[in-house]
Amino acid sequence: MSHEQTLTRVRDHVRQTILLSAIEQALGWDERCMMPQQGGEYRAEQMTLLAGMIHERNTAPQLGEWYAELAASPLASDPHSDTGATIRELKRNYDKQVKLPKSLVEELARATVRGQQIWQEARAKNDFKSFQPVLTEIFRLKQQQAAAIGYEKDAYDALLDDYEPAAKTAEVTKVLAGLRDELVPLVAQIRDCGRAPDVSIVERRFPVDAQERFGKAAAAAIGFDFQRGRLDVTAHPFCTTLGPHDHRITTRYDEQFFNSAFFGILHEAGHGLYELGLNTAEYGFPLGAAISLGIHESQSRLWENFVGRSRAFWQHFYPAAQREFPEALAKTKLDDFHFAINDVRPSLIRVEADEATYNLHILIRFELEQAVISGQLKVADLPGAWNEKYEQALGVRPPSDADGVLQDIHWSAGLIGYFPTYSLGNLYAGQFFAQADRDLGGLDAQIARGEFTPLREWLIDRIHRHGQRYTATELVQRVTGRPLSHAPLMKHLRDKFGALYGLS
Ligand code: ZN
Repeated sequence: MSHEQTLTRVRDHVRQTILLSAIEQALGWDERCMMPQQGGEYRAEQMTLLAGMIHERNTAPQLGEWYAELAASPLASDPHSDTGATIRELKRNYDKQVKLPKSLVEELARATVRGQQIWQEARAKNDFKSFQPVLTEIFRLKQQQAAAIGYEKDAYDALLDDYEPAAKTAEVTKVLAGLRDELVPLVAQIRDCGRAPDVSIVERRFPVDAQERFGKAAAAAIGFDFQRGRLDVTAHPFCTTLGPHDHRITTRYDEQFFNSAFFGILHEAGHGLYELGLNTAEYGFPLGAAISLGIHESQSRLWENFVGRSRAFWQHFYPAAQREFPEALAKTKLDDFHFAINDVRPSLIRVEADEATYNLHILIRFELEQAVISGQLKVADLPGAWNEKYEQALGVRPPSDADGVLQDIHWSAGLIGYFPTYSLGNLYAGQFFAQADRDLGGLDAQIARGEFTPLREWLIDRIHRHGQRYTATELVQRVTGRPLSHAPLMKHLRDKFGALYGLS
């Protein structure tokens, strides 16, 4: 059998697995957006069956033989060619999955289901002690996972790799430390400058039907294709893909707060635009799949913050906003509204944090979870260490663990190594946006005219259409001519908030 024939067999096998995964996504979307409460039990059985079938297909021994043959063949000689990148990524995922003993996968699944239940109660009762044993167990299993996968220097590398393939802890630490060194003083300067926006502007009455109309119009304007996608309502917004021409974004509406649905829609539409821009003929295969969570988040943050929170964007959209929300905005000036949607203030809760302080919340979690994985910090000491770090970085101290170490679901769900991808997303977004601005010659003027196509096409051309051909590190270097740095994001934050807060 020729190598080409082997590759055809691999693709046939993987295509069936991709179909099963898309069915799993459809059931997951339905569960979160449509399913009646009592449907949960049977749905869980369906999901478990599918997860087992997918895992079995992903780790089939025959695949190992095929991948070994293909990796040594001329088809893989150029790792950035169509076949080379496809074989490289499929093999990488396979090698990783077969390293995990089935018993560990099952133990982790059990511990994290239990972990999430116990976490929910512990947070409601502000009782870290009741969460501590299962969290200790989860961290112990994640250490075992890292050992099974293997790593060169940091055990954390092996966990980070699940979300940001090929990223190294030492490099991420370096770039985030550079960000922190400049961000902490900027946030303190904003806090102490004596100016603040009138945030009551965005807390007036914004009728839900008008929010939906306005949000959909903005998503369509930036290029989210409603012939290939939908917007629905859910409790915890997300974006998912059910097929090459079926992209679902979700939001939740708060009649007393403009920001949550509107910027949530732009954020999820940004994720959706990445999925829409992928190569549909390669749907689910490496050339038609997203690179990493960090790169995915860069696309959502770029549209949400760099575009959606810019003054240029509101120069274009504010008249329409005033028509949709006359009661709230008719008498409010554009500049006052723009300042209100860019309020910066140190706070306790990550998901409510602004564009600037958000990264400090992430740094704290990144440092703490690394310290637990490396054995330097005990789970029992997490609450105290958490509060110390909030005091140092943000100048606020959680009055309770519910508003501190218990606020996020991630650790209870075994998502360790996930947090840094949020900040990496902001850093990538800063660097990509600055490059697009140079390449396209003044994005501000285009955005102010409501012209989003040049930016969207630039993102498709430079980022989306390549799928996983390049790693995130390679992509940043290729697109911007330099390695990832905190400098473009810091420049963006300094320029923007310097002007809004009148900093010198
Ligand atoms: Zn996101």
